[in-house]
Amino acid sequence: MTHERILIIEDESASLDVLTEAFSTEGYNVQSATDGEDGLEKALNQAPDLLVLDIMLPKVDGFEICRLLREEELDLPILMLTASGSEADVVRGLNLGADDYVTKPFRIRELLARANALLRRRRREAGNVLRVGSFVLDETERRIWKDGAEIALTRREFDLLAFLVKHPRRVLTRAVILRHVWGYEADVTDRNVDRWMTTLRRKIEPDPHEPTYVKAVRAIGYRFEPGDGGGTAS
Ligand code: CA
Repeated sequence: MTHERILIIEDESASLDVLTEAFSTEGYNVQSATDGEDGLEKALNQAPDLLVLDIMLPKVDGFEICRLLREEELDLPILMLTASGSEADVVRGLNLGADDYVTKPFRIRELLARANALLRRRRREAGNVLRVGSFVLDETERRIWKDGAEIALTRREFDLLAFLVKHPRRVLTRAVILRHVWGYEADVTDRNVDRWMTTLRRKIEPDPHEPTYVKAVRAIGYRFEPGDGGGTAS
């Protein structure tokens, strides 16, 4: 599973704590730097998916970081934190390559919404969406559609169906499915796989007793037939 990485460059510890806590809670992998020099190095070397960047920083300020990152042609969305009332800073930051800004003191909900919007755009541009037959998988957003309709899935059901969508028309043994979807958790058995497949079929098969997508392969495991996508509305 990929967890997107957020790099926060912010020297004020109260603000950094709030940001770190909020992004971590949302499931992001958070890294931080408290001065511009360290931050720039991390931005260049750790391939974050989003940069939250304060302007006033020790050593190298946020404007300079923006400018240098764009000079490197790094494809990294930048959400800038600016002091309230300093429109000139906002304009300068945007001109130097920031993608969006939030003014301090920020409301964390709004900041997260803006960050998520930038990440969504990045995901779309990265083409993270996989189309296989009747199914569309967005692994980053953890959503799956069948014939244009989203399927409501639990976390584990998503992992299982995503694995099937990524391995269509192949015979998958229960051991392979177990290893990829459950990892090496000791208390999961072949029987569990069968139970999860039954649950999944109820959600995606027109007739769960005559499955057309999740086919059993006798004595071995399963094969996923993704359909021809004829009904896809997109
Ligand atoms: Ca600062």
